[in-house]
Amino acid sequence: MGLLAIGTPLEWPEAKLQADHVRAWGIEQLLSIWRRNKGKARDALLWGDEIEYLVVCYDDENRKVRLSLRQAEILEALASDEKLLEQGGGVPDINAEELKNGDVAPAPIFHPEFGRFMLEATPRKPWGIGFKDLLDVEPNMKLRRKIAKEHMAATECPITLTTFPRLGRNDSTKPSYPNSGPKLRSQFLPDEIANPHIRFPTLAANIRSRRGRKVEVNVPIFHDEKTAKPWKDPTVNYDLHNWPEDDDVRNGAAKDDFIHMDAMAFGMGSCCLQITFQAKNIDEGRKMYDQLSPLGPIMLALTAATPIYKGFLADTDVRWNQISRAVDDRTAEELGEKPLKNDRWRIPKSRYASNSTYISKDPRLRQEYFDPDLVIDEEIKQKLMDGGMDNLLATHFAHIFIRDPIVVFAEDLKELDLLKSDHFENLQSTNWQHMRFKPPPSGTDDIGWRVEFRPMEIQITDFENAAFSIFMVLITRAILSFDLNFYVPIPRVTENMETAHRRDAVLNERFWFRKDPFPRKATGRSELGSRPASRPASRPPTPPLGPVEDEYELMSVDEVINGQRPGQGSGEFPGLIPLVENYLNSMNVDVETRCELAQYLDLIRKRADGRLWSGAKWMRDFVSKHAEYEKDSAVGDGIQYDLVKAAEQIARNEGRDGLGNEMLGRH
Ligand code: ADP
Ligand code: MG
Ligand code: MG
Ligand code: MG
Ligand code: MG
Ligand code: MG
Repeated sequence: MGLLAIGTPLEWPEAKLQADHVRAWGIEQLLSIWRRNKGKARDALLWGDEIEYLVVCYDDENRKVRLSLRQAEILEALASDEKLLEQGGGVPDINAEELKNGDVAPAPIFHPEFGRFMLEATPRKPWGIGFKDLLDVEPNMKLRRKIAKEHMAATECPITLTTFPRLGRNDSTKPSYPNSGPKLRSQFLPDEIANPHIRFPTLAANIRSRRGRKVEVNVPIFHDEKTAKPWKDPTVNYDLHNWPEDDDVRNGAAKDDFIHMDAMAFGMGSCCLQITFQAKNIDEGRKMYDQLSPLGPIMLALTAATPIYKGFLADTDVRWNQISRAVDDRTAEELGEKPLKNDRWRIPKSRYASNSTYISKDPRLRQEYFDPDLVIDEEIKQKLMDGGMDNLLATHFAHIFIRDPIVVFAEDLKELDLLKSDHFENLQSTNWQHMRFKPPPSGTDDIGWRVEFRPMEIQITDFENAAFSIFMVLITRAILSFDLNFYVPIPRVTENMETAHRRDAVLNERFWFRKDPFPRKATGRSELGSRPASRPASRPPTPPLGPVEDEYELMSVDEVINGQRPGQGSGEFPGLIPLVENYLNSMNVDVETRCELAQYLDLIRKRADGRLWSGAKWMRDFVSKHAEYEKDSAVGDGIQYDLVKAAEQIARNEGRDGLGNEMLGRH
């Protein structure tokens, strides 16, 4: 989660006074980074994944599972074991000799996360460009899970569910703490739910404070046969009087037919799967950023794994909007609830949202694709342009810099260090968009311009997590290799992001998607199998552009992933998997590697066409068939215990024993 400076964080009223200062220095640092790195070229096409885990703790006697708040101790155990590793031993099953021979991947890196019950793991080094490297991903993810588990207590286990089903209900953590602390002021969660590093509670407290009330995370309830209509969240307490914010629910924060949550941890306590790609230069990075952007909502729907909140079945399948609301620091004026008086703008989106602008120098980027509602800080844009940055990139950063820095350390305001990036990162790392454009970090020449793809939900098994990671790598390669064009207007991507939330969106909803992804006209689907998607040089010049609306249409996830069949829409879109297959055909991948990769692509293909279930669908099915489920949308302790145990078993056996095979299709 960004950088962990140590120091004295300012409370919101003081931090707010320093916002312009931090932004000004952030922009100076950005310009400095940009000047130093804009010509950086020939960086390797590296990439890396991030896996986030919930750490659970079983109480088998009482058939109960809780979140373990031992993140710090577990990280400590891992870190001290790493030292042993460097001395040539230590981490179980990795021996120094094998490491030296390159037979075994080096130990992964574990990172803290917002939730004190979370853990993140990345490979030690980013993955390379070779196809064989792709086959190391799944074993490495499994190794990470194994090493994590080995550094936990016997009753603890890392699991990759996006959210803990009953987070926010009594007795959900070990140890247990009373709710309603000074930082979160949540009526459902203790302050101790957050990583105790001062940055995290300050982030939560200052977001609440800037907003002027608690965050409001309302998720529609799934109405089952016996669910009351209207449904009133039975866990909301209207009679609390510890904090001024306890008035929020009396002022209507909780709504009929919604599960009500009131703290950052309900969002930032969710686990996801992120992929970072390094580009060979800044222009390629800008292209990747734009072209991957329209895939965001599709991949969100396809990885859907979040059907339960606070012990109730929700009517949505993914985590995205809940995180968005859980960190939404906009004031009533910015939200448009009050006339603008003290604030500068109305802002249409939370600082956690789908991204809002395109940045590539691609001549195919049409003016019509931009969001007419994009809010930017004109002064900052001018400063960047005066510093030599071009309009598009300056616009991107001038949008990110409309936000206030939330956590400001007094010590950092004394001296501006242009070789550092702390003030820039302060804004950058708290703009949680579904794509992130990462400039090279300061202090090293080894890392280039990178693009992060952030919307995917974490999957229960490492087989799935590897499959989705590898698919994203391959589609990125296909984009670059064939110069594919997925541009649709930004507001359509925003709309798709909403669509992705609906229950079973992967099967039932349709998304705006570009019909013809090829660089120039005239490469039909029928030709796809036989040759790469580029136009022979002898063709006549491209015809003038038609209306933008003619370029895209509504497609199901199946059409996007597997291609349109005759009669489906324009019938034009070839499908992402056929594009990837075509790319692989053009690359002479050896048969063995190709077979291994086929298993991953097969999972994606079948998730999209409905032969395999999403995690969300599988969990709903599990709950609905559970003996303790009363068809009233309530997920009790016993169901949660069995569900978490099932997730652990599925991660281990991957459906080979039958459990969860509807998702995995592995036999
Ligand atoms: P953040 O949490 O800010 O996204 P992390 O360090 O947790 O950053 O994860 C970044 C990911 O990027 C990891 O998977 C890591 O392996 C990968 N990575 C690191 N260096 C590079 C690089 N030069 N190019 C591509 N990916 C990289
Ligand atoms: Mg993370
Ligand atoms: Mg990370
Ligand atoms: Mg991070
Ligand atoms: Mg997270
Ligand atoms: Mg990340």
